[in-house]
Amino acid sequence: MRLQNKVALITGAASGIGRESALLYAKEGAKVVVCDLNETAGADTVQQIQAQGGEAIFVKADVSKTADVKAMIEAAETTYGQLNVLFNNAGIFHAKDGSVLDTDEEIWDLTMNVNLKGVFLGCKYGIPALLRSGGGSIVNTASFVAVMGAATPQIAYTASKGGVLALTREIAVEFARQNIRANALCPGPVQTPLLDELLADPARRQRRLVHIPAGRFAQAQEIAQAALFLASNESAFVNGSTFLVDGGITAAYVTPE
Ligand code: NAD
Repeated sequence: MRLQNKVALITGAASGIGRESALLYAKEGAKVVVCDLNETAGADTVQQIQAQGGEAIFVKADVSKTADVKAMIEAAETTYGQLNVLFNNAGIFHAKDGSVLDTDEEIWDLTMNVNLKGVFLGCKYGIPALLRSGGGSIVNTASFVAVMGAATPQIAYTASKGGVLALTREIAVEFARQNIRANALCPGPVQTPLLDELLADPARRQRRLVHIPAGRFAQAQEIAQAALFLASNESAFVNGSTFLVDGGITAAYVTPE
């Protein structure tokens, strides 16, 4: 098994990419600390892991709150004795996040607090735990929008993901000789609740689909497979990467008809 004897903490593990990663990590032998704001759905992820014979606990945490982040890291060490994989995955995409001209400051602050400060806090309090375990792997979820601009803007979301990418690179360099790797996972559009509202509108859906060489959106399981690779020792020399899992979006100039 690819994560045998490892303890992995995943934020945003009550839904979408986080939940699929939690299920996959557990199948590969990890003990999983499922963290999320949503208690009911988080507990459901744990139940699904246990039903497949795995080990997991749920910790309610708001990643933008210092006390919660400290407590979730503590829970990993108290329950399982160590932390080896830190997957900072929780993120939001606000319906009122649009052009720089009409996005409210409150939406900007909220998005930055969850998507960027949440990753900062995860690393700030998670890295000491990884060091106590002799090192480990950090996976921070950015997005393909961290490297591409769109004429259908979501200014706060895009800026937050650019921040995640830059922050991840710096951590990767600073801690490389202490046996910690950090990579920015950059998915293309994935069919998850995060995009449900956007993808429900046929025009907005098509506007995005046309740019994907693969001709479809990703499934959360496909992103989880990449998160598994980055978490496992198979990626031992992958560090500081902009790990794009985007169906070819960033390679494309013109996509097939
Ligand atoms: P999702 O909405 O299905 O799941 C996100 C989870 O994060 C939810 O369970 C939610 O309760 C939790 N969450 C939200 N705010 C939180 C907070 N403050 N503290 C703790 N948990 C919180 O979304 P998803 O599509 O699985 O997205 C996961 C990550 O992938 C996000 O960072 C997102 O930005 C990123 N991403 C998604 C896509 C996509 O198209 N779906 C593309 C690129 C990147």
